[in-house]
Amino acid sequence: MTTSAYLDSQNRLHRETVSGECPHCGNSAHFSLLACPGFARLRTDRPARVGIVVQCDSCRTPLFLRYRVRAWLEDRVEFHPHPEEMERAPERFAYDTLPERVAATFREALACHGAGLLQAFAVMCRATTQAMLEDLGERSRLRIFDQVAEVKMLAEIDDGTFAAVRRVLFEGEPPRGTSPAPLTRLQAAVLLETMKDLLFQTYVRRARLQAALRLRQFPPAESAPRPAGDLPASRSAGG
Ligand SMILES: [Zn+2]
Repeated sequence: MTTSAYLDSQNRLHRETVSGECPHCGNSAHFSLLACPGFARLRTDRPARVGIVVQCDSCRTPLFLRYRVRAWLEDRVEFHPHPEEMERAPERFAYDTLPERVAATFREALACHGAGLLQAFAVMCRATTQAMLEDLGERSRLRIFDQVAEVKMLAEIDDGTFAAVRRVLFEGEPPRGTSPAPLTRLQAAVLLETMKDLLFQTYVRRARLQAALRLRQFPPAESAPRPAGDLPASRSAGG
């Protein structure tokens, strides 16, 4: 059993886990305690949840954590071992390789996902594939369809989950009066990974290959020392 976090009667907070991934800077960091309500106050108020503020030692951003109270004892207030999730690390993506409209739509999709708004997330994912089709042309629909089918095969996604993902991405608005079942958390997670893979295969991969090939043609000066007299003017075509 995991040891609880607890506040003792001397107002000292004892926690087992004091480090983790910071949702702001993404570093694995130690979190220092900035503020915690006092023992006497908690004993009087007896709230079901207790909020504390810690600071990421890496980026110095304050973070709010909320613990559920497990037990009220004479000499301590015991909390559940893990705080409730308040701030999630944002999903990162190489947006700069996407066309502007695709990037803007997908950024919003990820924000919905991060906020736990799964139906809004589904709508924005569909808008993202729509933006991709507008960018690539309607004839790319089949290729995108194949890529999504490939994700199903590679990741061994079950038929029910895959059907939900495909419905979100490719089927239009449902007929009036019928609304499809809302996405479950699992389906949303699969949809998220499918979208990331789809965008990666379509845009990121191409951009990285092109950048790598450009580097081969015009290697940066510092990685390949040139003999004296070889002037950088010969690289001006690389811009
Ligand atoms: Zn941080």
